[in-house]
Amino acid sequence: MSRVYMNPCTTYELDTVYEKTAEILNGLGGMGSFVKPGMRVALKPNMILVKKPAEAATTHPAVVSAIARLVREAGGIPYIVESPFGQYTVPALERHYVSCGMKQLQEEGLVELNTDLSTAEIELPEGLKLKKLGILKPIADADLVISLSKLKTHALMTYTGAVKNLFGVIAGLQKGSFHMRFPDSVTFADALIDICLAVKPGLHIMDAIVGMEGDGPTAGTPRDIGFIGASTDPFALDLAAASTICEKVKIVPTIQRARARGLGPAELNEIEFPMATPDQFYIPDYKFAKTESSTTVSWLRNSKLLKPYPAFDKKICVGCGECFRACPVQALQMVEKRPVLDIDKCIRCFCCHEGCSPQAVRIKRNRFAGMVEAGLSFVSFLTSELPFKKRKKIS
Ligand code: SF4
Ligand code: SF4
Repeated sequence: MSRVYMNPCTTYELDTVYEKTAEILNGLGGMGSFVKPGMRVALKPNMILVKKPAEAATTHPAVVSAIARLVREAGGIPYIVESPFGQYTVPALERHYVSCGMKQLQEEGLVELNTDLSTAEIELPEGLKLKKLGILKPIADADLVISLSKLKTHALMTYTGAVKNLFGVIAGLQKGSFHMRFPDSVTFADALIDICLAVKPGLHIMDAIVGMEGDGPTAGTPRDIGFIGASTDPFALDLAAASTICEKVKIVPTIQRARARGLGPAELNEIEFPMATPDQFYIPDYKFAKTESSTTVSWLRNSKLLKPYPAFDKKICVGCGECFRACPVQALQMVEKRPVLDIDKCIRCFCCHEGCSPQAVRIKRNRFAGMVEAGLSFVSFLTSELPFKKRKKIS
């Protein structure tokens, strides 16, 4: 039976986060059961964009700091590795390290910051969609990988957590080719699961003290959730964590596909919770991205007719071209320093939305889709099965 640790925590105060994380690790047998003296340990946080920790788009440095301290106490050497959105260059990495609070951890002597841009090819015998994969070499070379995800909504994948966090081991703009090869959320979920199985982190930690709601993973708003999560099983951790924000958790593509592939637990009652349980954190009115459909029927959710599309606010746009460079199918052109969309080419991956720091990319629906959605919402309301009877207050 998989175990998921959910330790209540409502602050990013360093010592509190350290204590709460240490309590979890004690339950797991201590950091010493994962880390032996001299081991090089890759910490893989979510550092998707050049954002401040308070914006809740990235793993908070207090959580990274707590894990780094525990790794050091066990004799390991922690280093941070991540390929954020956009071009994978040393100057780009430096900007992310400073903004996301990791540079400070390096200055405190807690962590090393990776600047090696090389990749290594690995085999994926268990892969369903991928049999070979090029990943960041410092991840491939690590004695242990610890994934440090952030709980957020996601415009394409509904929710991002333990499994989705590992997409950041793919270097820079190569991520776009995955969207091109796996354009819908279900096949993309299978590819994400393959990547997660290939990287095989020994431990998955989740920063769910404050998550992101609305138009995640970068343009949403922070929302208090109140726990630090951990498990050696990423599928169990995602099922538990997504259950705190999502009524119909099985529509989350990575969860749906993991269940279909027999990976991890199928239901919450197949998970052991030594600390708190998901119902203690359940937020019934958590807001999802505007891309979300009210229907749970896969083909309807993925129908191009109903799917929203990106729209570009020319007043907010600064003409940086990140969206243009990230679009995997060349559906965007820069005309007079502003993106112009060819909607027939657009596969609705929302990479442009995800990578736009000034938040100039909106999620739009046509009027017909809006009417269909209203009808589906009504049907969904009549047939909804609430997983928890009531929400207990987070103390
Ligand atoms: S829409 Fe955003 S990402 Fe695209 S050019 Fe404008 S500011 Fe840059
Ligand atoms: S325009 Fe945006 S949503 Fe459409 S394919 Fe390109 S990156 Fe994806």
